Amino acid sequence: MRASAPPVVSYALMGTPHVITSAEYLPADTADVVRTVRDSRDRSAPFTVCGGEQTEEYGLADQRAVLSLRKMNSVLDINLGRRTVRVQAGAKLSEIDRRLGAHGLGLPVVGDHRDITAGGFASVGGVSTASHRYGMFIDQIVDLEYVDPDGRIGTCGRGHHVERFHRILGAGGRAGIITALTLDVVDVDKDRTWLTTDADRFLDFDSFVEHATTEINHPGSAAMQVGRWIDTAAIKVARPVGTGQVSLGAVRFGQWSSLYPATPTRGLRARREVGTRTRKSLGAIASAAGGRAGMPVRNAAAGALMFAPKVLTMRDAEYLADTVISSSERGPAYRVGVFAPLANYGAVFYGLHDLFNRHRERTGCFTVISAMTYGVRSPYLRAEAAARGLSATDYGLITFTCRLRPSALPSDQLREIVSGIDEICRSEQALRYSV
Ligand SMILES: Cc1cc2nc3c(=O)[nH]c(=O)nc-3n(C[C@H](O)[C@H](O)[C@H](O)COP(=O)(O)OP(=O)(O)OC[C@H]3O[C@@H](n4cnc5c(N)ncnc54)[C@H](O)[C@@H]3O)c2cc1C
Repeated sequence: MRASAPPVVSYALMGTPHVITSAEYLPADTADVVRTVRDSRDRSAPFTVCGGEQTEEYGLADQRAVLSLRKMNSVLDINLGRRTVRVQAGAKLSEIDRRLGAHGLGLPVVGDHRDITAGGFASVGGVSTASHRYGMFIDQIVDLEYVDPDGRIGTCGRGHHVERFHRILGAGGRAGIITALTLDVVDVDKDRTWLTTDADRFLDFDSFVEHATTEINHPGSAAMQVGRWIDTAAIKVARPVGTGQVSLGAVRFGQWSSLYPATPTRGLRARREVGTRTRKSLGAIASAAGGRAGMPVRNAAAGALMFAPKVLTMRDAEYLADTVISSSERGPAYRVGVFAPLANYGAVFYGLHDLFNRHRERTGCFTVISAMTYGVRSPYLRAEAAARGLSATDYGLITFTCRLRPSALPSDQLREIVSGIDEICRSEQALRYSV
């Protein structure tokens, strides 16, 4: 969440990632960060901050110099008594979690791919399929160290300099560079915590939204929850023999998955083993189906793999998306995330769904339109809402990813879509999330 922004939706256009070759600063410690900030301020040469590798997908293609924290990646201290971990900002969440695992501890909220850093996640907010229980990543931050835009080191946290703490969190690097953080951890062995999935499948959008609304409002004892909806335009494929194309028709399909703790019997272990192998094989087939011609295969495999399997460990569940081809490999997409207040959840979901479908029907700009959704009960988000004069409440996160046809979205149409999303957010008191 970018705290300083107005309550409107942000958007992201994702392209094919490639490594950027502009100047890169790689500080080894906080003193290095201070020096870099002061030097660049003196030379009035601003830079962009990034957690790990710099890629176009992360919006760093503006040829500005980049300060990457990937060398500041240490786990500094695990405090077993307080149940906290102190890390440098460039530490990857997956690595922190691996180190915590040795003590039977884990991070309650992690991103769904293995390269996300603690500083990067803190700078965007951080949500996961466990957010209906634990809120956002930001809610787990006890305190942090930062370097401000003038090159001064400071600290702030839940208990001191609270205003500054809130200014830096979710600010996407604009309010200062986070250099170290202390995080709450929970007692959990992610490799030995087994989950089984209660899955409900839907062929129509109305039933899917109705079910998602109920589950987000009443998650019960689910350890994780997620709903996914996929809506393809009619797929046209070239005839294998002869000329012309065959239209395969549109596919509309949704699944709601609630994942509950289970005892790991031999049967469950065997099932998980088969499931893991199948996912890996499908992922490999999808990745091998290259070029534009392979796009339908990649989309189909990714779609099939993203729906939570019946049996898995908590670690499998957290990185499920990482076992399939990355989103960017499936071509350019338009992505938006919105926190919908629970009372207006259905209205926001319908509003966004109808908006994207209308644009697709009118101009054919999108191919596959997909949505992902789950509950978010976050003290940070409640405080954010209150600070903006909105009622403090719990939310359902709704993200839409719309695959673009190779001819990109013209800017006037993009503006129209963004203003449509803004309008939905204004009228339904929804908040944006930068995905
Ligand atoms: C494939 C994919 C999956 C994703 N899955 C999730 C998910 O499950 N949940 C979720 O919430 N988000 C998700 N995201 C979004 C992701 O959380 C953010 O992009 C995340 O911030 C990436 O972390 P990073 O360490 O790579 O940071 P970067 O992408 O490098 O940076 C993200 C932002 O934080 C700023 N920043 C980075 N480090 C610091 C720092 N130390 N101090 C101050 N500012 C800093 C950057 O300037 C930038 O504005 C996903 C993104 C992708 C591409």
